[in-house]
Amino acid sequence: MQTDVSIHYSPFIIYYKYKMPTYVPSFYMPSEWQRELQLAIDNPLFLLKLLKLPPPLNLLPQSAFNLRVPRGYVARMRQGDPNDPLLRQVLPLLDETVEMPQFSIDPLNEQAVQTVTGLLHKYHGRVLLVTTKACAIHCRYCFRRHYSYQPLSISTVIEAIRADTSIQEVILSGGDPLTLTDNRLAELAHQLATIPQIQRLRVHTRLPIVLPERVNSDLLTWLTGTRLQPVIVVHANHPNELNHQVNQALHSLIDAGITVLNQTVLLRGVNDQASILIQLSEALFSQRVLPYYLHLLDRVQGTAHFEVPLTQATQILEQMRCALPGYLVPQMVREIAGMAYKQPIISS
Ligand SMILES: *Cc1c(COP(=O)(O)O)cnc(C)c1O
Ligand code: SF4
Repeated sequence: MQTDVSIHYSPFIIYYKYKMPTYVPSFYMPSEWQRELQLAIDNPLFLLKLLKLPPPLNLLPQSAFNLRVPRGYVARMRQGDPNDPLLRQVLPLLDETVEMPQFSIDPLNEQAVQTVTGLLHKYHGRVLLVTTKACAIHCRYCFRRHYSYQPLSISTVIEAIRADTSIQEVILSGGDPLTLTDNRLAELAHQLATIPQIQRLRVHTRLPIVLPERVNSDLLTWLTGTRLQPVIVVHANHPNELNHQVNQALHSLIDAGITVLNQTVLLRGVNDQASILIQLSEALFSQRVLPYYLHLLDRVQGTAHFEVPLTQATQILEQMRCALPGYLVPQMVREIAGMAYKQPIISS
C-alpha cells in the first residue's frame, strides 16, 4: 500500500509532538493517533540507526512500496538484533526483487471478484470493501501490495450492497480502514446500517496492534453506535507485538461490546515455530482475544522469502494442537482463487 498520509520525518514534527505548544487552537490539532501516523518512520537507514544496527548488504534502499513503521512499533523491537521478528516484517530487502514463477501480482484474482470498484464479493453472505490504500505500517509480505487502488464511490458501493439481499455482513478492509477519519467511518457505518439485510459490520485492521492510540472514544462511538453487530479482526503475528498499550486498546474494544478476533500470517523467520504461535495464542487470550485464522502466505510477487513449506506448516499446527485447548488453535487456511471459502489445512 502506498500512503495518503505520509508526512516526512522532520525535527519540527518531533518538537510538535513532545512540546505541544498550548496556544495551538484546537481545530488545528490532529488527534493523537494522526500525529503518531505522521511520525511513522519511512527511512530504512534511520530505522537501522535507531536499532543500533549497521545497514545489511541485502538492504533494498528504495521501493515503490516504501518502508513505513510507527515509532511505537519500533520501540517493541530488540536493539542490535538483525533477526528481530518485528524488524523482519518491515525492513525492505533485496529478496523482494527476486521473481519466482508461482508468485504473481494478483494470485487471489481479486480483480475478477470486484463487482463495483472497491467491492469484492467472493464468499456467500459477505462482501469486502477496499476502503483505502493507506496503512500505518507496510508489511513486506502484504497480499495487497500490488493491488491497483481506484477511488471509491461510497454511494455506488452502498447501492450495490443494497441491491443484493444475500449479503448479511460487510467487511471493511484496505489498506487499513482505520486510517480513515472517524467522521468518514461514522458516515459509512450509518449508511450501511440503512440496508435492512446487513446484520454485521466487520473491520479488518492492524492498527490496534501497530498504533494502539487509534482506539479512541470516537472510534468506539461509531463502531457501536448503529444496529449492526461489530466485529474487529486484528492482525498480530508475534507475541512481541503485544505490550501494555496494545492490551489496553484491545480491552477498550472488548469492553465496548465488540467481538475481537485475531488473524496471523505464517512467516518464515518471524513466527515459523510452534512455541511462538502458542505463546501468541495465550497472550491474545489473556486479553480475551480469540485466534481466528493462521494464513499460509499468499503467493504475491516479492514475498517468496517469507514462505513456510507446507510440511513444516502442518507440523507446526500439529504441535499447537498438542499444546493448546481447541479454542486457542487458529484455523490454518490457504486462500485459493475460485473456492467458496478459505481452504483449511489439516495437520498431518
Ligand atoms: C477473507 C475474505 C473474506 C472473509 O472471509 P471469512 O472466512 O468470513 O473470514 C471475505 N471476502 C473476501 C474477498 C476475503 O478475501
Ligand atoms: S497492515 Fe495489512 S494491508 Fe497494510 S501492509 Fe500490513 S498486511 Fe498489508
